[in-house]
Amino acid sequence: MQRIVDIGRRIELVPIDPHFYDITIGLYQQQSVDTTTGKETPFFLVHTYSRVAGVADRIEEVRQTMQVLGGMLKTAEGLLYFPCGSAHQAACRRVFLEACKLTPGTRVERRPLWTLDKKSQLTVTVNSVGDGIYAVTADSEGRGAARRIAAIAGGLAKLGEMKDTGADNKDTVAFDCGHAHDALVGLLLTRAPNVRIALREEEMSTSRGVLSAPSQQM
Ligand SMILES: [Zn+2]
Repeated sequence: MQRIVDIGRRIELVPIDPHFYDITIGLYQQQSVDTTTGKETPFFLVHTYSRVAGVADRIEEVRQTMQVLGGMLKTAEGLLYFPCGSAHQAACRRVFLEACKLTPGTRVERRPLWTLDKKSQLTVTVNSVGDGIYAVTADSEGRGAARRIAAIAGGLAKLGEMKDTGADNKDTVAFDCGHAHDALVGLLLTRAPNVRIALREEEMSTSRGVLSAPSQQM
């Protein structure tokens, strides 16, 4: 038996959707409690209070994009969740922001597990090594490469709320849940080399969310 109470807590906001009549779209987190086991499972709701014609299709588009970019699943009611059952809230917020940015109609594909790091001109690859652990490597060695690898691993850790796997392993990060999340890591990897910019963007969106009174804006 599962029971879900109200819409949930808003954890992210796109105040103006440039792709659909400037509507406001929110991401809400809900906690579903299994009354038999007492186990709590986090679900995510993409929601707008807009009633513009076609808005349901736009919301569904964002949900489907999030499924691909974040490797998320969807309940019959349209709630999103990760297969491992963990919240991964920071990563989910990032998936939501990126999904809303994509121009409608473009083919959505999960991001690859490698990226060209503009700063070092290295091709940086992330490999899943099991148990939710990812190792960052580059196509060249040396001190400079090691520094960039550590910086990018640190970026992944921040954006995905991943943990360091020990002082000696500055090139590996891991998900607490112990499960692989390749799609998620691919998405975060596009932002990891510029983690400061990505985090500033999140802060701005959060402060915008605070400034706009939810009762009036959404
Ligand atoms: Zn997980």
